[in-house]
Amino acid sequence: MNKATDDKYASFRKDVQSFLREKLTPEIQDRARRQAGVAAEPKLGLWWQKTLHEKGWTAPAWPVEYGGTGWDAMEQYIFQEECALAGAPNHLLTGVQMCGPVIMQFGSPSQKEYFLPRILSGEDYWCQGFSEPGSGSDLASLKTKAVRDGDDYVVNGSKIWTTHAHYANWIFLLVRTSTEGRPQAGISLLLSPMNAPGISVRPILSMSGEHDVNEVFFDNVRIPVSNRVGEENQGWTVAKYLLEFERGGAYAAIARNALEEARRSALQRDEIDQRALWDEPSFRRRFADLEIQITAQAWTERRVIAGKTAGTSTGPLMASVLKVRGSELQQTASEIAMHALGEFAIPDQRDALEPGSKLPPHGPDFALRSTARYMNSRATSIVRGTNEIQRNLIARLIINQQAPLGFALD
Ligand SMILES: Cc1cc2nc3c(=O)[nH]c(=O)nc-3n(C[C@H](O)[C@H](O)[C@H](O)COP(=O)(O)OP(=O)(O)OC[C@H]3O[C@@H](n4cnc5c(N)ncnc54)[C@H](O)[C@@H]3O)c2cc1C
Repeated sequence: MNKATDDKYASFRKDVQSFLREKLTPEIQDRARRQAGVAAEPKLGLWWQKTLHEKGWTAPAWPVEYGGTGWDAMEQYIFQEECALAGAPNHLLTGVQMCGPVIMQFGSPSQKEYFLPRILSGEDYWCQGFSEPGSGSDLASLKTKAVRDGDDYVVNGSKIWTTHAHYANWIFLLVRTSTEGRPQAGISLLLSPMNAPGISVRPILSMSGEHDVNEVFFDNVRIPVSNRVGEENQGWTVAKYLLEFERGGAYAAIARNALEEARRSALQRDEIDQRALWDEPSFRRRFADLEIQITAQAWTERRVIAGKTAGTSTGPLMASVLKVRGSELQQTASEIAMHALGEFAIPDQRDALEPGSKLPPHGPDFALRSTARYMNSRATSIVRGTNEIQRNLIARLIINQQAPLGFALD
């Protein structure tokens, strides 16, 4: 970093902040704050995507020719950071962050022409059909089968944990097109409309009662060969490329936002209850400890991004390190929020005990979502490759010395 780049990024940050101040009205922030699922409900998420699209900011990481912003890595990071700190809706970015880059890299000209503008505008809402029962971490063992029949594949099998499959109008899915050789060598990636005959969706309710994820069944579904991305049996290469886009991000800002929520909860509850949790040394120590860890994570993220901007490859090692730490910090922040709220965090259970109860709310109303958020944040260490798998990767990369850290640790 030097004075010129510092000034450039400070002025960029101000522009982003003023845009966010204008668009994220208190009502929108309040609605976003009440979302507890793994992604915002599409009505809110797509409103945000449309708002960003009007400004040309939907897909900062895309090349300019396809509608990207032309921002460098640090500007993209600052944008993510400011959105998280401002409490912008956490809209599902399956189309923008995953499907779009894959179509750009491996898609045919007609796939690019058709799908990319629709992903940018939010006209198409995508879900990701990778995981199957028995094939999560060991994704290459997937069994959903696609058999060629003329100009179509006939697909049979099922996917699981498919986020927002009940809202999506398109799915990109990995299928087995060959059983010869290594499992990785017989996989292809297909695109299918969700209303194709033979596709059915069954909800899975999370322990908080949220409906985010689903099972998706394929019963003799015909998918045109022209909807395959990349060559037949090269889906593993496509999938690996795609998974690179799943990790990374401004984890520290998300955790900081969650911690801020915990602070608000503690103060509000103190006011209602006439107690002084906020002034209790043990609570404040826990809070301060996490704040320090989040600040350390933020600086690590920035150093990694600065290295990238300078043209150094940060490689997969730091992506895994940041993911593991980032998800743990988010989870700890949600635990502190629960601590701050005490029994106010469980009004849903109170309602269950007293059906039809007309009791007035006995806590700040956003506390209604804290339990759900706490429960759903358990998923952050599972999605995008579980933290155990990330730790295996980190160990292997360090032991094999395949990946330099990308920046000096001292
Ligand atoms: C909220 C949520 C949303 C999701 N959304 C989607 C989606 O939209 N699309 C999609 O395709 N998938 C989605 N997933 C699935 C997710 O990618 C998988 O859950 C994840 O990859 C783990 O796979 P699994 O659940 O089969 O667990 P498993 O792979 O069976 O793992 C079970 C446990 O064993 C551990 N384990 C497994 N192998 C090893 C190993 N080699 N070494 C050490 N420990 C190991 C794991 O870390 C884990 O703790 C979602 C999951 C969740 C929770």
